[in-house]
Amino acid sequence: MKFDPASNIQDLAQFGEFGDVNPSITDSATYTFMEAKTMVDTFHGEQEGCFLYSRHWNPSNKYLADALAAMEGTESAWVTASGMGAITSAILQLCNSGDHIVSSITTYGGTFAFLANYLKKFRIEVSFVDITKHGEVESAIRENTRLIYTETMTNPLLQISDIPALAKIARDNQVKLVVDNTFTPMIMSPAKMGADIVVNSLTKFINGKNDCVGGVICAGEDFINSLADVNTGSAMLLGPVLDPLRSSSIQKNLHTLHIRMKQHGHNAMYLANKFQEAGLRTIYPGLSNHPQHGLMKELMHPDFGFGGMIAIDLETSDKASVLMEAMQKVGVGYLAVSLGYFKTLFSNSGKSTSSEVPEDVQKEMGLSEGLIRFSVGLDHDIERSWERIAACLESLGCR
Ligand code: PLP
Repeated sequence: MKFDPASNIQDLAQFGEFGDVNPSITDSATYTFMEAKTMVDTFHGEQEGCFLYSRHWNPSNKYLADALAAMEGTESAWVTASGMGAITSAILQLCNSGDHIVSSITTYGGTFAFLANYLKKFRIEVSFVDITKHGEVESAIRENTRLIYTETMTNPLLQISDIPALAKIARDNQVKLVVDNTFTPMIMSPAKMGADIVVNSLTKFINGKNDCVGGVICAGEDFINSLADVNTGSAMLLGPVLDPLRSSSIQKNLHTLHIRMKQHGHNAMYLANKFQEAGLRTIYPGLSNHPQHGLMKELMHPDFGFGGMIAIDLETSDKASVLMEAMQKVGVGYLAVSLGYFKTLFSNSGKSTSSEVPEDVQKEMGLSEGLIRFSVGLDHDIERSWERIAACLESLGCR
């Protein structure tokens, strides 16, 4: 039977201690034990179903983690206080001092900074490659390489990673494939295509309300258990745990994700066509001239569209600023970083979410200084939104 992330979430039977239709919120940091031996066994990971301390596991977090594991098709998951908490915990769990990573050069700026700057503390080296060039990926692998890192749809250039091909390279070289699925939840299922570990920022589409930050690591049971190990687990020892009150609200929002992704995709497809017709350089994987349009069609679940992210190129950051300010004024959306919100958000990537990437590297990866990244909202009348954008473009002389 076809893997169906939305139905997997719908089929979850998660309810509270009094039959409440939403799981109860466990508002406790610690847990009592009737017998001292059970506590000792739980510490040693030998007691199933017992909770020890909420930095280790919390029942509300477990409900959300189970739901996200069902969505990604992994055995298990662990929820974190942010997407960066998920990315950094997963990488630090896999790597030791002196190890090496091969990463896509286009990734979220925070991830890039962690890989390029922070990991130097541990003498972990990173080779950055064009993730669409598999020869480059293969030849960057060394004896001490532990993992290949990529994003399903890269931020901000919206390249599509060929997960099955990268998984084969990883398997052949006995390294792990770690994939950030933040731009394409529901649309792509990287673990079902061979990724070993899938991370997501819940802050974005999955929660969809921009009221909190959160993250998740989805993987096999052994890896998730290793993260929570009381002696050696990066999640347990670094402590990036999600607050259970937030877990509970994100868990409810997850149940509408499939509907929201369809609407984000529908609206983005409409705007991408309009931007292109207006003569602007437009990057959107749903357009037939996108270099990985065919690949995306092969890999995606067809029910949820091509995603809510679009990039257009205004060539200079000054022009981009004028357009963004004008669009905000007429109510297109907000000039703000982040994505996956019910309102349209736009920002100039090179000066914001990719500003951690040095300018020469931005040039090398093909990131124009005038690139505006749009996270298209859930607008009911997207034609009306386009008319507003078109008027702004016209006043700038861009149409
Ligand atoms: N991954 C991607 C692709 C992102 O765009 C971001 C943030 O913008 C993150 C991870 C980090 O997530 P968070 O802000 O929840 O830490």
